[in-house]
Order: sequence, then structure tokens, then C-alpha cells
Amino acid sequence: MAYPKARLTVIATGGTISTGKGPDGVRRPAYSGADLTAPLSGTFDVSVVDLLALDSSELTPADWDRIRGAVRAAIDDGADGVVVTHGTDTMEETALWLDLTYAGDVPVVLTGAMRSADAPDADGPGNLRDALAVAASPAARGLGVLVCFAGRVLQPLGMHKVATDDLSGFAGELVGAVHGGVTLAGAKTRPYLGELGAAGAPRVDIVAAYLGSDSVALDACVTAGARAVVLEALGSGNAGAAVVDGVRRHCGDGVVIAVSTRVPGGRVGASYGPGHEMAAAGAVMVPKLRPPQARVLAMAALAAGLPVADVIDRWG
Ligand code: ASP
Repeated sequence: MAYPKARLTVIATGGTISTGKGPDGVRRPAYSGADLTAPLSGTFDVSVVDLLALDSSELTPADWDRIRGAVRAAIDDGADGVVVTHGTDTMEETALWLDLTYAGDVPVVLTGAMRSADAPDADGPGNLRDALAVAASPAARGLGVLVCFAGRVLQPLGMHKVATDDLSGFAGELVGAVHGGVTLAGAKTRPYLGELGAAGAPRVDIVAAYLGSDSVALDACVTAGARAVVLEALGSGNAGAAVVDGVRRHCGDGVVIAVSTRVPGGRVGASYGPGHEMAAAGAVMVPKLRPPQARVLAMAALAAGLPVADVIDRWG
């Protein structure tokens, strides 16, 4: 199928979709956005912005600003759809940050790959073709930010990486699929939080609780300037007494403590003694989101000047 009418922009940031294996057997970004899109130029009207060439584990919140700036510039330039190629390690964070901060109608679609660009059975070309088809689809207008991967279209909120080899890569809420054509029948949450303040994303850290953990890491994060800390708690939102004490101290000082869990797919509530004590001290329970996205939500809420508890209550 050809998509002659849609003007599309691909913003390349690196990730496995762009990697080649070096003589040392290590995968590093080696292929530009132009390299990745060249085989698709007969199918799509696409222009390319080679913005970054990084493993996505190396990205920082400042890179979110660069990506947002490139998306805005592409749309101002008349793009009907934008695709961001990105590593899978932190795609759930960038995709959610973009969705929380983007109010436009033009589709913004993230994609990546599990296999290097130079692998004989690379999945990147198919993922990129699908993402461009979604970005060109009139049905994607007004849906905000989407993730297209392995033939599935996912909403950013709630998606998380669940595999390091399996081509499906992610779990999350399904908005649609690409099999020959694009079908977008599922509901898409649009958690736009409004304009961000000039200061940008504040420091928010994640601290893991485990058997016998104390509050050393929590205290260090607050000392380093964290405005909020996501506690990767145990079970349905619990931690040992030393951590609970630290949570009580920091909540008393006005630091936001958001309690998520280390249990994949687990729900958080204050239904046991330790979790109940943290909630009573002012900690915010994050019912569904995994720690990385709970952090992104807290960062965006703080950057938008919104009460973190209210934002987590609505979207967490
Ligand atoms: N390490 C890679 C990255 O996130 C993994 C990938 O893209 O699949 O950049």
C-alpha cells in the first residue's frame, strides 16, 4: 500500500533499531535515520531528523526536551504524522512523558526494535513501516502519542518492557494493530497534563525496598534534591520499619513519596500494616503504574505545578 498524501517525519534517536554489531560483538547505534527510512521512500513521503544516536539507557530528561522540540518543529513544518525511533530500554518513559505533555492532533508514534539493524532477520524495518502507516492514518489523529511495536499499537500509559529477546517487547493496553492495514479500535487514554513550567522536569528518584532495606538510599536521594521519590515497595505496597520511618520523615518535610511495587502486574493499596503506615504519613499509593512510569508521572505533575497526589489518583 502507498500513502502518497501524508507528509511524515521520522525523528531518529538511536536504540537497537539503529544498531550494528561491532568487531567486538557489541551493539551500538550505527545506522542513521536516513539509512533506516531509505527502503521505505517509495511507500511514504518521509523526511528525516537525525536527532540523537544513543542507547536509550543513556538518555536524560534534557533529551525529552530535544525530542519534544523536534516533534514540534516537524509539526510546525507541516508534518501530518511523526515517528520517533527509540531504544526499547526506556521507551515507556519517553512515550509517557511525550503523551503527558502533548496536546496536538498530529499522531506521534514511537517505535524501535529488538534485533539490530544488521541482523538478517531484523524486526526494525517492519516496525518502522508499521509506525509510519499508523502515523499516516487519519484514525490516529487526535489520539496523541502511540507506540507501534511488533504489529501492535499500544497506549503509552501503563506500557512496560517485558522482554529482552522476544519480539513483542512490551505489555500494555492495546489501541489497535497493523496487519496489512491499520486498525485502531481500542480506547486511548490521553493524559495531557497542561503546560509545563519553565524549570522543566525536577529530580525524582526511584528507591527499591527489599528484605532488610534501610533508609540510606531514600535519604541520599532527598539530600541530592529529589522533589519526589518513587518507592519500589514490596507486594501490595509494603516496606520494613526503617524505610517506613524514612518515608514518615520525608513526607513530614514535604517530599512526595509515591509507593509502587516491585511485583510485575501487582496492584498497590494500603491494606497491610506497613503500607497503611506509609499512607497515614502522607505517602501516595500508585495503584497500577510500574515504578519507571510512576516516576515520569510525578515528574510531569511537578513540572506542570499540579498536586502529585491528584495526578496519581487520576492516571496512576
Ligand atoms: N539497549 C537498547 C536501547 O534501549 C535496547 C533496544 O533498543 O531494544 O537503546
